[in-house]
Parts: sequence; C-alpha cells; structure tokens
Amino acid sequence: MKDLALKAALCMQCQVCGAACTAAPVNGLRPREVVRRAAAGDETLHQGPDPWLCVACYACAAQCRAGIDISELFYELRNRAAAEGRIPEPYRAVAKQLLATGCSFPITKNTGRMRDALGLPAFGVSGKGIAELNTLCREAGMPDPDKRVPAAADACATGACAAAKEV
Ligand code: SF4
Ligand code: SF4
Repeated sequence: MKDLALKAALCMQCQVCGAACTAAPVNGLRPREVVRRAAAGDETLHQGPDPWLCVACYACAAQCRAGIDISELFYELRNRAAAEGRIPEPYRAVAKQLLATGCSFPITKNTGRMRDALGLPAFGVSGKGIAELNTLCREAGMPDPDKRVPAAADACATGACAAAKEV
C-alpha cells in the first residue's frame, strides 16, 4: 500500500477525474475518493467493489493535473484483490475461459457461421498455443482464478459488489 499512497499523495482533490470518469454515471465509481483513500494508506481499499468498477478508459489519467496515473492505481488494486482470491465472478469466468481455450471469449457456432460468411478460416487456438499461454500466465504471476477468500469476507460474493457482478 505504501507505493499506492506515495503516488496518490500528490492528489489535490480537484475532482477532475470524477468529472471525466466514464464509469461514474453508470456504476457510481468515484475515482477521487479512491485516490483519497489510497493517499491515506487505506489497507482495505482493494477489498471492496471499487477496483472492479473501473473500465480502464484512462480518461481520468489523461486529465489529472497532478500527473497521477489513476488507471494504474486501479490495476494495482485489482491485482492485489485477485491475489487474495477476491475476484468478481464475471472476471473469474473470463480468466478461466482464457486459460482453457486461449480465447477470452467463447467461440460459438454463430462465430463459425459469421467467419464462413466472410470467407475466413475456422478459428481456434491449438493445444500447444493454449499450453504456452498457460505457462506465460503462470510465469507472469497471474493468480489462480479458482482461488477464493471465504465468502463472508468477500464483498463481491456477499452482494456488496453488485455493479461488478454485472460487468
Ligand atoms: S484529477 Fe488528479 S489531482 Fe484531481 S482529484 Fe483526481 S487524482 Fe486528484
Ligand atoms: S480509467 Fe477508470 S477511474 Fe479512470 S475515468 Fe476510466 S473508468 Fe473512471
């Protein structure tokens, strides 16, 4: 948390990031508040829903006059949450899909039909490619998508993270 606090300490609480935030009108994310809590050294910041409400559009970082990379702050919070097994189910499902198939989205029959119609070859990642991807993810420190904190300690599992469930 020390690194986050140091970066966030430059914040002037001007609220420019909040006005620019594309997620705020949809899910109520308040990036200025997240930066304030990070600057205060709040060790619980990654445990709530906020890290998962950001859509990583970088609109806040582009306009912050203090030069704070707010999007990067959200990435760090998500990484910390994921390492503890605090992952909203939709993100967990995407990670598992990626590791199982090499694609972060399902290849459906309709996908095949559309590729056919466009004259494109059938699509799929080879077993070798999937194995290499798994190795890369493991070597890069990707957390186990099956790791979970006890439900009672997980805001995203107890319903406090409703917006993240709908991502
Ligand atoms: S735009 Fe930058 S300085 Fe202003 S409140 Fe947001 S993080 Fe702080
Ligand atoms: S990167 Fe996240 S916090 Fe920043 S403007 Fe986009 S959605 Fe909002």
